[in-house]
Amino acid sequence: MKHLFFPILLLLAFLGLSVACGAPKAQEPEPKYIVQVSIGHWKAPTFSAEQIIARLDTVSRLIPIEKVIIGWSLDKEVYRKVGTYLHENNIHMLLWLPVFAETEDVLDNSPAVDLWGRLPAEYAAGGFRFNCPTDPQNLANVLALYDQCFSDCGFDGVFLDRVRTQSFVSGVGGVLNCGCPTCTAHFAAEGVDLEEVRKAWEEKGDDFLSVSNYDPVTGFEFADPLAAAFFRAKGHIVSNSVAAVADSLHQRGLEVGLDLYAPFMAPFVGQDYAILSQHADFIKPMLYRMTFAPAGMGYEYDLLRKAIPGAKGYPDIKMDVAFLESQLEAMADCPCAKYPGIEINYRADIVPTSPEYVAESLAAVMRYHFDGLDLSWNIMEAPDAHIACLGK
Ligand SMILES: [Zn+2]
Repeated sequence: MKHLFFPILLLLAFLGLSVACGAPKAQEPEPKYIVQVSIGHWKAPTFSAEQIIARLDTVSRLIPIEKVIIGWSLDKEVYRKVGTYLHENNIHMLLWLPVFAETEDVLDNSPAVDLWGRLPAEYAAGGFRFNCPTDPQNLANVLALYDQCFSDCGFDGVFLDRVRTQSFVSGVGGVLNCGCPTCTAHFAAEGVDLEEVRKAWEEKGDDFLSVSNYDPVTGFEFADPLAAAFFRAKGHIVSNSVAAVADSLHQRGLEVGLDLYAPFMAPFVGQDYAILSQHADFIKPMLYRMTFAPAGMGYEYDLLRKAIPGAKGYPDIKMDVAFLESQLEAMADCPCAKYPGIEINYRADIVPTSPEYVAESLAAVMRYHFDGLDLSWNIMEAPDAHIACLGK
């Protein structure tokens, strides 16, 4: 019996150790990170290549960076220098390129108009304007801009921003658009007569946009079948244009990422996740719960409710972790990579984020086994504590 004693003791010790450590855990995938470097719009870069490289070097010591999105100055040298550093470190460099807005300084694009042919408020007030999403010349201009100004800078891909129409930031006219003759024909091809939509809005007012049901995962159901048909068609029209631009960039050997509104607000700006995710390598849904400015989820939803106070069925929505999870659930089946945008920049008045908020958001994203995070929206100005909390 004595010769069995030690093996049994060893077995008992092993079992004890196993219980203490718990059951073996399935290996959770490590999150990957995309960072964005904002260097100003079409003008001389607001940071030198040396400053950008030094900053990325610092951030790389805190988290593994997979891709850097940088733009959209016209200075080629800054991209070439930063690109050399990134490629030495096996990091992809993507051009941050706006598609349907903020191109008026460099491209002669036709503007988007509302259903009455008027320019929506944001443009009239002097803010950046949006372009018509179907004018073939507008799409060709964006591609020509890439070819002429960026194709020899060493980019591995392009991150397409402003791939939408206006939101309720521009009031109802920003959402009920584009009503130009080209878009009117596209709506007709989708079975929607914009003249009827216009009449319905004039007769019913806010009630035209009332919803009969809301589910955080599947979104709003419009009570009026014409409103439902309008937004379904708008999603097809705008997203098919974006898909065409993405396909053309793929043909140039580039990877393509897309900047998207959260699923519950996406229909209002013409973003159809099912279409877009089939034409992108990755999507970055802006799941900003702490941003009290455009693209912030609560901010945009408040604007919706203020723009159409007479519309029924829009509930209070709390921007908590459960709501974040509902938005992750809504895109879980998209066939491309998913890097939700979580804001890490800080401003006491409009972006009161904290390390705890950032870490809590990462944990939710990784519970859904997504690829990682897009740290939004300018790594040059984000507090180190909001990055260090993510760990290596
Ligand atoms: Zn149009």
